[in-house]
Order: sequence, then C-alpha cells, then structure tokens
Amino acid sequence: MSELKPLLKELQSTDLELHALTAERDAIPQKIAALEQELNLLNRRLEEAKQTLTDSRTELKLAELNLTSQEETLVKYNSQLFSAKTNEEYKAFLREIETTERKKNEIEDGIITLMERIEQEEAELAKRKAEKEREESKKKQEIQTVKASQSHLEATIEEVREKYERLRRELPDNILAIYDRIKKNKHGLAVAQILDANRCSGCLNPIPTQQAIEAAHSDKLVFCEYCGRILLV
Ligand SMILES: [Zn+2]
Repeated sequence: MSELKPLLKELQSTDLELHALTAERDAIPQKIAALEQELNLLNRRLEEAKQTLTDSRTELKLAELNLTSQEETLVKYNSQLFSAKTNEEYKAFLREIETTERKKNEIEDGIITLMERIEQEEAELAKRKAEKEREESKKKQEIQTVKASQSHLEATIEEVREKYERLRRELPDNILAIYDRIKKNKHGLAVAQILDANRCSGCLNPIPTQQAIEAAHSDKLVFCEYCGRILLV
C-alpha cells in the first residue's frame, strides 16, 4: 500500500492543528483587550469611590456651615426677644426662633445621616483600594503571560505551516485538488474515518462493506457516498 493514504490523514490533522493554532493566535488581541478592560474597571471603581467620598465630605462641610449660620441666627433672635416692644413683636420673634430651631434640628439630623454615609463610603474606598492592589498586579501578569504566549504560538504556527507545506509537496497535484475541493465544501474536513460498525466519521452514515474493505486495504481512494469525503481507516 502506498504512502498516499497516511499522507492524506496527516495532511488533514496538520491542517486542523494549523487552523486551531491560528484561531488561538487571532483571539489574543481580544483576550488582551478584555484584561485591559478589567484593569480599567478596577481604576474606575476606585476613582468613583474617591469621588463619592469627596462629594459627601463637601456636602458635610456645607451642612456644618449651614448649621453655624442657623445657630448664629438663633443667638440673634434670642437677644432680640427681650427688646421686643409689643406683644405682637414678641410673638413674631418666638415664631422665628421656633422655625430656626426646626431648621437647625433638620440640619443636625442630616449631618448624622451624612456622617454615617461617609463612614460607609470610607469603608467602600478602602475595599476598592485593596481590590486594586490585589487584582492589578495579577491582571498585569496575565497580560504579560498572554503576550509571551503569542510569540511562542507564532513560532509553533510557523513550524506546523512548514510541515503542512511539506506534506502538500509530497502529494500529487490531482489528489491535492480533490482534497482542497472536498475541504472547501465540507467545512474544512476532507477526510473521514471509518468508525466501528462501518460508519463514516464525517456524516455517520453506513459504509457498504465492500467499500470499507477497499478503503482499508487498497490504494484506491474511496469516497463516502453520502458526504463525499475521502474514507480512511
Ligand atoms: Zn460520510
């Protein structure tokens, strides 16, 4: 039996290997982009936590200023209360004092809520900082590993491609033409194997016994009558 059939089988497996390696190589930029996006997300989350805390601290300062202003107003009204000339004026001052007290209480409540919020936001910021410290170097390392695998992959692709070209040179042109034609029509698989119970690995249809014997024992190329692939054992 000639070398033709083993060569065809090897051509297909080399072809598939080359295809898989190329796909892996082509997926690398996307893999790196995804990791870089994760890195950006870590930074963005940290920046957001910082900004939220800064905003709340500004809000607290404003509330404290507002509180001081209400307290000053209260002092002013309290001193004016005793200089009231009429009963009406006195009552008016009392109403102002009451309103100011209420505002002051609201601001104080607001300040307490705000301080609790700031405490939570500080905890969140600490969490984000720790997350960044923990994840950043890991992600950067992953990016380096993927980049390093790229050059290794390129070298392997080159080797497999050379092997593929060598195999093609060893096969007659008419056989290559058949291989290429079936491969194109059959989603990259020109060669099928005969499975147990004489079935075609390409389409799983049964292969007549006589054909299976020829495929196994003669130099003649046998094709699956259903999918048209070259049948090999
Ligand atoms: Zn078939």
